[in-house]
Amino acid sequence: MNRQFETIAIREQLERSQFMEHTTPLYMTSSFIFEDDEDMRASFAEEKQRNIYSRFTNPNTEELVHKVCALEGAESGVAFATGMGAVFSTFAALLKSGDHIVSARAVFGSTHAMFTKFLPKWQIETTYFDVEKPETIADCIRPETKMIYAETPTNPGVSLLDLEALAAIAKKHNLILVIDNCFATPYLQQPLAFGADLVIHSATKLMDGQGRVLGGLTVGKKDLIRDIYLFARNTGPAMSPFNAWVLSKSLETLAVRVDRHCENALALAQFLESHPQVNWTKYPFLPSHPQYTIAKKQMKKGGNIISFEVKGGLEAGRKFLNAIKMCSLSANLGDSRTIVTHPASTTHSKLSKDDRQAVGITDGMIRLSVGLEHVDDIQNDLQQALATL
Ligand SMILES: *Cc1c(COP(=O)(O)O)cnc(C)c1O
Repeated sequence: MNRQFETIAIREQLERSQFMEHTTPLYMTSSFIFEDDEDMRASFAEEKQRNIYSRFTNPNTEELVHKVCALEGAESGVAFATGMGAVFSTFAALLKSGDHIVSARAVFGSTHAMFTKFLPKWQIETTYFDVEKPETIADCIRPETKMIYAETPTNPGVSLLDLEALAAIAKKHNLILVIDNCFATPYLQQPLAFGADLVIHSATKLMDGQGRVLGGLTVGKKDLIRDIYLFARNTGPAMSPFNAWVLSKSLETLAVRVDRHCENALALAQFLESHPQVNWTKYPFLPSHPQYTIAKKQMKKGGNIISFEVKGGLEAGRKFLNAIKMCSLSANLGDSRTIVTHPASTTHSKLSKDDRQAVGITDGMIRLSVGLEHVDDIQNDLQQALATL
């Protein structure tokens, strides 16, 4: 039977135990037992699909991985303790010394640190392209290039990359295309369907959506996942059964939550766009977004992240943040609580102004991670803060 997204997110679950529980229980066990020597031998030889030790697999992580694979249209996947565990393990498993990555310049901060601080220790270099100029990607490719890496929408600039076009380049040059799909979730965008090879998630964000647990996943092509799984199984960045259990429950409500996130975000983007204290507003499903046609092609809705620029530069940005009453000032995003950040004075303050500009961060730019509070209450908070400028 061909099940819809919402149904998979709820009904994809482990077989019931002898207790006939309705929802999947938590299997807090570090290891599993064997019938006899032959059972143990066959299990280690992987002649049997079964749990051995929770660093390898656990019923709760298996349920979560199966569910996310079904939602992303992936053959196979691995769960990790954090999103960065997924990012690092993917690089470490698939790349070797001398390999080269082509990446979007605007990527998550710790991913950027991996490219600049850690991968070079193993002679793995990265060349960046500007998301606004995807036509330059081909020029970045070298004979030793192995992978194209990108996020769409980007953080915090909310720019988009055309997934189909990226996949065509990757295919032409025989490269592995890896997409961090954290901002969109599989509910809004399924990169594998556009030709990506692997999808990475920080499950910490919208997947949990309630700011409770950390988690990460890499899903996609079976042969690539096999190498990532073996790396993870032996090096130990496993997701805890508890976090997997929480995340599998979270996914049951992903569609209804993300629908409301997007509904609130679109209304607030329209409000901000027409506000006299705001220079510009960027949201994928506003017709004024420079890549609106790409958004419509590859995303179901616009997501929950808005960027906008207040009039008055750095000082106005800081003043706006200080005037916020209800929304949270926090480094997280994709929470049920609306979060406001001012990247130029906080998360990206260590970058030079030029480097900030290159990833779309202006002095007065505000990033809004729209939550699930009543939209009028969020709007009132933004309105009173804008009125102080
Ligand atoms: C948060 C985030 C990560 C890292 O995830 P953690 O769970 O915090 O390790 C990676 N990519 C993107 C786009 C993120 O927003």
